[in-house]
Amino acid sequence: GSRSAPVRVGRAETGNGGRPETDAHPAQGFGSDPLTVRDTDHYTSEYVRGFVEKWDELIDWEKRYESEGGFFVDLLRSYGVKSVLDVATGTGFHSVRLLEEGFDTVSVDGSAEMLAKAFENGLNHGGHILRVVHADWRWLSRDVSGQFDAVVCLGNSFTHLFSERDRRKALAEFYAVLKPDGILVIDQRNYDAILDGGFSGRHTYYYCGEEVSAEPEYVDEGLARFRYRFPDNSQYHLNMFPLRRDYLRRLLREVGFQRVETYGDFQETFRAQDPDFLIHVAEKS
Ligand code: SAM
Repeated sequence: GSRSAPVRVGRAETGNGGRPETDAHPAQGFGSDPLTVRDTDHYTSEYVRGFVEKWDELIDWEKRYESEGGFFVDLLRSYGVKSVLDVATGTGFHSVRLLEEGFDTVSVDGSAEMLAKAFENGLNHGGHILRVVHADWRWLSRDVSGQFDAVVCLGNSFTHLFSERDRRKALAEFYAVLKPDGILVIDQRNYDAILDGGFSGRHTYYYCGEEVSAEPEYVDEGLARFRYRFPDNSQYHLNMFPLRRDYLRRLLREVGFQRVETYGDFQETFRAQDPDFLIHVAEKS
């Protein structure tokens, strides 16, 4: 899911070999064997209204602004970016921030429900009218016209693609909607730490004090299933593909990006070792 400053305060000790302890929220459509749900097309069912609204209600946008600081804005400015295609709009956090900072922004998502929420959030946060496009990344250039200085895919979103074919197709489409000297900014959770760290890598991430938590409930090389818990005891899940850092860097180069720079967490947290998030900046030329 999306993020605010991830603060690690403890380790997830499930003590049951990493098998899920709990049932999925029925509305999310995981069925009776959620570990078999490894499907790129499932993302539209996972972001159900209750989940999305709770997240937005509890994770204060102002706090998220503070935790990200000026990282993305400064990065885009340093490349002289004016126009941005936000391909993972979600509920609009990054799109609204970019509009506020004066970037000419178009907002894409494959979920119509998310775009509706983003549009509403834009109006409520500074009266911005989002320019939204409902499109799946794999067929992006069919629905988006023109080319952009930057494509941003933030909030650990690319992880929703479950096959290499889909990843290559999506990256090729991102490449196609960029101007010749454009950049792609794509972030991800540090899955290497989770996959290689055993239980010690599978820590719980707390947001908003300790009110909201996200933890990997089950992990293998093809699936990272995260559980999100809220103060009212409701819980939701996301099934994601655990992207390894060097694998994604290689794909970026293979679809044609000339240079790929990878950053650790955009801001200092208490953590000494591994960053929780990685941010890749890929240059088209
Ligand atoms: N960037 C936002 C943030 O950080 O708050 C939201 C990111 S949210 C975690 C991921 C978004 O990606 C969801 O809104 C989902 O609908 C969208 N998404 C996932 N797979 C997609 C695909 N194949 N095509 C288009 N959108 C997709």
